Amino acid sequence: MTVPKPPLKILLAAPRGFCAGVDRAIQIVEQALTKFGAPVYVRHEIVHNRYVVDSLRAKGAVFVNELDEIPDTTQPVIFSAHGVAKAIPASARGRNMFIVDATCPLVSKVHMEVARHHEQGREIVLVGHRGHPEVVGTLGQLPDGAIHLIESADEARSFLPRDATNLAYVTQTTLSLDDTAEIVEILKARFPGINGPVKEDICYATTNRQNAVKAIATRIDGLIVVGGPKSSNSLRLVEVAERAGCQFSVLVERAADIPWAKLEGAKAIGITAGASAPEVIVEEVVEAFRQRYDVSIDVVTTLEERVIFNIPREVRLARAPAEQH
Ligand code: SF4
Repeated sequence: MTVPKPPLKILLAAPRGFCAGVDRAIQIVEQALTKFGAPVYVRHEIVHNRYVVDSLRAKGAVFVNELDEIPDTTQPVIFSAHGVAKAIPASARGRNMFIVDATCPLVSKVHMEVARHHEQGREIVLVGHRGHPEVVGTLGQLPDGAIHLIESADEARSFLPRDATNLAYVTQTTLSLDDTAEIVEILKARFPGINGPVKEDICYATTNRQNAVKAIATRIDGLIVVGGPKSSNSLRLVEVAERAGCQFSVLVERAADIPWAKLEGAKAIGITAGASAPEVIVEEVVEAFRQRYDVSIDVVTTLEERVIFNIPREVRLARAPAEQH
């Protein structure tokens, strides 16, 4: 006799998963492989997701940490969606490399902001997480010391600028909306003339995924966030859920990581995915729940996203070998 499975409601948060910047970065690598053949070199993980990186590696992408790991080549050298310090393309050009920049346009916007503030002689504060590739790239837009990194409200309270009347701030694109709002409020209270972005730097995808999680957080007994352990926006979704009242929230890379014991007794769980996590893993996670529970699914959509970014001309307009006569 088969034992009936316990019922479980799954609230699928929407929007979730791939953003326009990640989608563009993956397309750049895939089209570069189609049009120029393997190998295509990619500096750093193109996006913070092992499944995506492994899939591209299987197609012929070669991932490196630094340019000096790449032999002299005419093949494309792609920079990841997180952006790079100015010294990196300069060094690649010095070696006549064929550069394709997959930096998300919303990260490039922050790079342009810091350059503008610097030109106007302002001291710049970057709100972000030390060591994250995007932060390394943004800091590297300007000479050492031109940008001060602030990671917390406490650091915002103790920050001592050279000239409190000539300041500007920018932020990492994938931060917690609420934590960042607190830090920015502290900076504005201490330095009322501080210049900031016209429209905030936290990107639309980070904002929408956090709001979608807040919309379900009090209706679920636990939240599964599909995403890589280095993915900033995915990690923020775990925190946002907990702060919004969800008792348990966890990041999983694959279905095999689901902590079943922690979900025992749950009647409703939520599932979302960070901006670099493919939908196929969400489907894998849902399927794992179906194996154990009698699942009913509600998709909770807080907003429809329609953002698309064009891929660079040098890849878009290149012709695949079969098209070259
Ligand atoms: Fe661009 Fe935001 Fe996606 Fe990062 S999370 S790649 S900034 S759209």
